[in-house]
Amino acid sequence: MTPQLDIHERLQAATTRAAELKKEAGRLQERTRVNRATLYRLVNEVRLEQRIQDLPTSPMTISCPLCKANPGYECETRSGGFSIVHVARVKAAAIEDVARGT
Ligand SMILES: [Zn+2]
Repeated sequence: MTPQLDIHERLQAATTRAAELKKEAGRLQERTRVNRATLYRLVNEVRLEQRIQDLPTSPMTISCPLCKANPGYECETRSGGFSIVHVARVKAAAIEDVARGT
């Protein structure tokens, strides 16, 4: 092996290594992009969850302390006419909000 060939071989090896490093850099860049996208998605999910928790409690999601209507059911009235929500139920929902600090 002559010294000149050795230099060519070393140059070839360096070129090959540079191409491998370039590929690896590309893969890392892609992983970073994917990780960043995942991070943004998670941050948005947390923000959405936070906003949902900040919403006031709907009186219809709790039972009525006055007529004992179950969550999801309208308050019961004697007349059986209009759909109503007892004020006591609205207040109970507001009390829940105060209790959880919203
Ligand atoms: Zn009621």
